[in-house]
Amino acid sequence: MKRIAIIGGGISGLSAAFQLEKRQRAGAPIEYVLFESSGHLGGVLSTERVEGCILEAGPDSFLTEKPWATDLCRELGLGDQLIGSNDSKRKTYILVKNRLVPIPDGLMFMVPTRIMPTAFSPLFSFRTKLRMAQEWFNSKPSTELVTENDESVASLVERHYGREMVDRLADPLLSGVYGGVASELSVRAVLPRFAKMEEEYGSLGRGMLASRKSRSNKTSNPIPSSLFTSLKGGMQQIVDALIAQLSPSSLHIDTAVHSLERKDERWLLSLEHRTDQFDAIILATPASNAAALLRGVHGDLSAELAGIRYSSSVIVNAVYDRAVRSQLRRGFGFLVPRKEGKRILAVTFVHNKFDGRAPDHRALLRCFLGGTGNEAILEVSDDEILRIVRKELQQTLGISAAPLFTHVHKWKNVMAQYSVGHLDRVKRIASFRQQLRGVALAGNAYGGIGIPDCVCSGADAAAESIKSVGLDQPV
Ligand SMILES: Cc1cc2nc3c(=O)[nH]c(=O)nc-3n(C[C@H](O)[C@H](O)[C@H](O)COP(=O)(O)OP(=O)(O)OC[C@H]3O[C@@H](n4cnc5c(N)ncnc54)[C@H](O)[C@@H]3O)c2cc1C
Repeated sequence: MKRIAIIGGGISGLSAAFQLEKRQRAGAPIEYVLFESSGHLGGVLSTERVEGCILEAGPDSFLTEKPWATDLCRELGLGDQLIGSNDSKRKTYILVKNRLVPIPDGLMFMVPTRIMPTAFSPLFSFRTKLRMAQEWFNSKPSTELVTENDESVASLVERHYGREMVDRLADPLLSGVYGGVASELSVRAVLPRFAKMEEEYGSLGRGMLASRKSRSNKTSNPIPSSLFTSLKGGMQQIVDALIAQLSPSSLHIDTAVHSLERKDERWLLSLEHRTDQFDAIILATPASNAAALLRGVHGDLSAELAGIRYSSSVIVNAVYDRAVRSQLRRGFGFLVPRKEGKRILAVTFVHNKFDGRAPDHRALLRCFLGGTGNEAILEVSDDEILRIVRKELQQTLGISAAPLFTHVHKWKNVMAQYSVGHLDRVKRIASFRQQLRGVALAGNAYGGIGIPDCVCSGADAAAESIKSVGLDQPV
């Protein structure tokens, strides 16, 4: 019997466990044990249901385009629980000088693909609009730009559209997804399509249109799927369904792994009051925790892992009454550029984004604070955070009413930041790891931060560890 340890019980670790469970059921001589230091499984996925409202403490959905999370849900029997975002109501605003300005139609991420809506939008100055036109007509394909040499998202966007596009759009969009800043995040890791489009077309606008055209030619499905997918009962449903498939005796919560050691061709794990031995291990923790565990095992690998930075964030769910709901605008919410000087980075109008998230007479607002450079918010008391949120919702949305109830969630060092050079670092990590038999890595630190990527990383790590113990043949 080969023994495999999974360290970390977030979505990445649980996905790895599910793959190992399936191999075990198929008759492979494997035993797996998952260790989770906290008292609950799922990591940052956590849903609370209060008075008919679905409050997500962490992620509220995932990108539909990447199939791995949807496929997993279907395999877990949750196919009929999947819901798409209400894209017909999709409108996102940017706060500009304390006014909410809609992102114009046809702007894909920050690339304009339709002239008129952008030309008439008050979001950009005349100068930026001129840059957009020049970008379309004057940019030439280049083979020597970003494909080899990485650069920041801010630098690429500024070269194409100027500084205002970075400040008004690129930076707020990235802080909404990564809790990161455009001047630090890597184009090759975060927006690889943009680097490729620049190489092929020169103009991002022309590249975006061409890729849209080729996608619509390839797809045989005339029904467009929604941008985001979630579950009727919230993201916790994935965690609960995974746990239901796993053997209870394999799941150890409140059990931190304190250190790792190589001993007689096996891995010795030190837990609180005991040790345990395994043939392979899957590190499904944040990279910083994996670095700490591997410090005495492989110094270079540990140093590379420790070099991946994380940002922290705070989520505030605030529920309001019917009057507030009717006073809110249509749309999914708004993003706040740094220059506006607010603590809130983004607000989602959850009741608009998905059906069934709040009763018709309630408004559910989800506010995102923190991110790179604003970690101090984690040290602030919940009461003070609520005071800040109420004040800023009053300034931005004109809500003076007190919320009916609120929930504050603080997440410390949970969102990996893919800084410039990230892909090279990931290559170095892979090559150092080759020197260690039976160590696989999973999680949001390497090939994608979203839930689908994490699901995929867990499945890949499970396949790798099965191979490393010599059981990669079908049973
Ligand atoms: C507020 C927020 C909103 C987000 N929104 C979205 C979204 O809408 N869509 C989307 O796709 N993604 C979103 N993400 C990103 C996505 O949710 C995460 O990248 C993903 O869930 C990370 O999963 P994970 O299993 O890799 O890590 P985690 O969930 O961080 O789990 C790692 C686990 O390892 C455990 N651990 C650490 N060290 C040890 C140890 N020594 N021993 C044992 N256990 C240990 C930790 O306790 C933790 O439970 C969001 C993230 C956050 C924080």
